[in-house]
Amino acid sequence: MKRKVLMIYTGGTIGMEKDYTSGSLKAFNFEHIFEKIPEIGLLDCEVSVHSFAKPLDSSDVGVEEWKEIGAVIEKNYSLYDGFLILHGTDTMSYTASALSYMLKGLTKPVILTGSQLPIGDLRTDAKENLLTSLYYASLYENSEALVQEVAIYFEYKLLRGNRTLKYSAEYFDAYRSPNYPILGESGVHLKINKEALFRNTGVNFGVDYHLCKDIVFWRIFPGMNFESLLHLPKTKVLILQVFGSGTIFNCDETEIILSSLRKNGTEIVVVSQCVSGGISIGKYENSNIFGKIGAISGKDLTAESAITKAMHLMDNPLYEGSFAENFSKNLRGELDENFGD
Ligand code: ASP
Repeated sequence: MKRKVLMIYTGGTIGMEKDYTSGSLKAFNFEHIFEKIPEIGLLDCEVSVHSFAKPLDSSDVGVEEWKEIGAVIEKNYSLYDGFLILHGTDTMSYTASALSYMLKGLTKPVILTGSQLPIGDLRTDAKENLLTSLYYASLYENSEALVQEVAIYFEYKLLRGNRTLKYSAEYFDAYRSPNYPILGESGVHLKINKEALFRNTGVNFGVDYHLCKDIVFWRIFPGMNFESLLHLPKTKVLILQVFGSGTIFNCDETEIILSSLRKNGTEIVVVSQCVSGGISIGKYENSNIFGKIGAISGKDLTAESAITKAMHLMDNPLYEGSFAENFSKNLRGELDENFGD
């Protein structure tokens, strides 16, 4: 019996070809993908395509598009064994992180991929990315999917989606998962790192469409006008991207401004400007302020994962307990709960 995979095409470079008259890239009709990559027919799985009405540059993908992808997966969940989302590379880590929180109790693979060069380009990376992603999206052992989470496959590596970041706009090897091991690797043999895979326990599959938009992300820098924080629009969660392992300017002004935000009910989450490692509140004197005002450590979360986790959790009626308690928990393998303790 061949496994069935639904390929959801949202846009991005992977679905483009060069218009040789104008010299620019344009989207091709994705229904013709089987003509462009006939090798899909040689794989040991049946592939169907669902295309977005209009292919999007991934900078146009946001909350509404995440919900649309969620709805397509929900509608087709029982009909397919795996899902492959073709997506622009620029915001793929945000979409992968958001979907990881939205899709509860996954027991089937949801793989995202894209490419740095369009499919019609001679040196394209699209073909390998797409074919191997289909392989991972249909990989089962004893009637159980091996990958039961949202992952990104790119340039020979399978990575946990909510641990990734786009690292390079130039190299084929565009993604990194600095704080978590790779889930699989494609070489002569296709490998899977079974110990690293995420497993849901006791939750039935469902899609949670709750996403709060009142989130602000701020990167601090030496010499900045910190007072401008007081003029933020309505903010339920402020994610502060601070230095190193969690440090910030050690002055009265910092405490006054952050305390006043907390008094107005804003949750403050602290993440690191370093791509590897994370937050250890209390390690340096210049991080103690966060303990004092009741800020939440983002531990080893990526910025993309912290933002989408905050969107998912803030005011979500499905969660019991406080925002801080839930944010600190490991929900989908996105953080190490003991990080920085
Ligand atoms: N700008 C494109 C996008 O993210 C880049 C790509 O697909 O690689 O949609």
